[in-house]
Amino acid sequence: MQTPKIIILGAGYGGLITSRQLEKTLRNGEAEVTLINKHDYHYISTQLHKTGAGTASDEKITLHIPELLKTDKIQFKKGTVQGVDNTAKKVFLESGEIIDYDYLMIGLGFDVSTFGIPGVEENAFKIKSFRSTKAIYNHILRQFAAYKEDLDPSRLTFAVAGAGFTGIEMIGELIEAMPKLCLQYDIPVSATRIINIEASATVLPGFDKEAIHFTESYLKKNGVELMTSTKILECSPTSIILDNGEELQLRTLIWSGGVRGNTLLEKMDLPISKGRILIDKFLRVKGMENVFCIGDAALFMKDEGTPLPPTAQVAIQQAEVCGPNIVASLRGEQLKTFEYHHKGTVASIGNKAAVGKVFGLKINGLFAALMKQVIEARYLFVLGGPGLVIKQFLKVGKPHS
Ligand code: FAD
Ligand code: NAD
Repeated sequence: MQTPKIIILGAGYGGLITSRQLEKTLRNGEAEVTLINKHDYHYISTQLHKTGAGTASDEKITLHIPELLKTDKIQFKKGTVQGVDNTAKKVFLESGEIIDYDYLMIGLGFDVSTFGIPGVEENAFKIKSFRSTKAIYNHILRQFAAYKEDLDPSRLTFAVAGAGFTGIEMIGELIEAMPKLCLQYDIPVSATRIINIEASATVLPGFDKEAIHFTESYLKKNGVELMTSTKILECSPTSIILDNGEELQLRTLIWSGGVRGNTLLEKMDLPISKGRILIDKFLRVKGMENVFCIGDAALFMKDEGTPLPPTAQVAIQQAEVCGPNIVASLRGEQLKTFEYHHKGTVASIGNKAAVGKVFGLKINGLFAALMKQVIEARYLFVLGGPGLVIKQFLKVGKPHS
């Protein structure tokens, strides 16, 4: 019998931690495992807002994937997935290469939802990947440089669409970045504007009242113009139109209006809902025995019929079960049912403040910011053990601004 082939698509939290689990669980020579990812680096997606504002160095946000794989049980292949044929059990790469599999794990993550709002896809900046957030920072630098020439106030007007967790974390970094950029370009801070536009009545819709109150006060205290109950209807390269009839002149709209599954998933002929692949209690694609899917690409329904949110916390917990379940499948053993345990949520507002709820305890301010750092360190620990936590901590975290 031939050695079974396991292919993992995507080296986000889901794909990498599944790989680590396979390294631990598989016996030598029991299966051939290949992890495929667009780039040879993993980006820490929970910190992408920092890349967008230039408040963390590239070295802090990206990790070289081959270094994260501890054994030669997993082969890494840099490649962009173009499609999958589930009948022929083949993965197609943009390079033209075709890869066979016996077991497939889809961890291709998220795309940004722009809801067909005119001009957003073409003109707004997205918090989606390391490259997309790097593009935000480079654009901001260009606006500062150009302002020195033309003094056009639209260049230093920065708007963030959405005040969900991503929007608030992005705003928090902009608050920290502005004074440093102003110093660098010798421009008064008063020439800059940060605007946060949210369709719902409050920031962090649906979250705790205390957290909402703390966040709104913190933003206002730091000069952010908060526009709640306001929808963005259109975006051009130099302005946005709001549903209150206002047109704001600006050249930077950072879109954090929501996420969906990777659009590539729609081409895979798999059961899909709201852009995400429907999976069963064992994390297999509904109706399939050899294809697994986890993280933001997957839609896992809780017993009461609500889906789990697209978070790193969910992706990590799923990966810890997915790896052993793939091995159980190939050994013909009983698979484990996935159960999610919510530990809490903490959103940073820059380095010095955060809001959240951890193990039922509401926290905000500096203590919450420290807790957020502990959570980020834990993610690193799960990815690469204590060595990686120390290595990342020791990296000269020289921010870009
Ligand atoms: P991803 O992390 O998106 O990984 C997908 C991988 O697939 C990437 O490596 C990508 O390069 C690769 N890929 C995509 N397309 C292709 C292709 N065609 N071919 C090959 N490779 C491909 N969640 C939390 O729980 N806590 C937080 O504090 C938190 N903070 C966040 C902050 C921000 C700014 C953002 C944007 C999200 C945050 N989240 C947080 C959500 C969290 O980042 C995601 O839920 C998590 O990254 C999902 O992991 P994943 O492995 O499913 O996908
Ligand atoms: P989201 O869907 O939670 O928030 C998007 C926000 O944009 C909503 O509040 C929505 O009302 C607003 N919006 C949509 N269209 C708009 C428009 N036209 N004009 C103005 N506002 C508009 O999306 P997100 O914040 O990107 O979060 C995605 C997922 O990632 C969530 O599951 C979240 O929990 C997770 N996440 C977690 C953290 C954390 O735990 N610290 C950080 C970031 C993201």
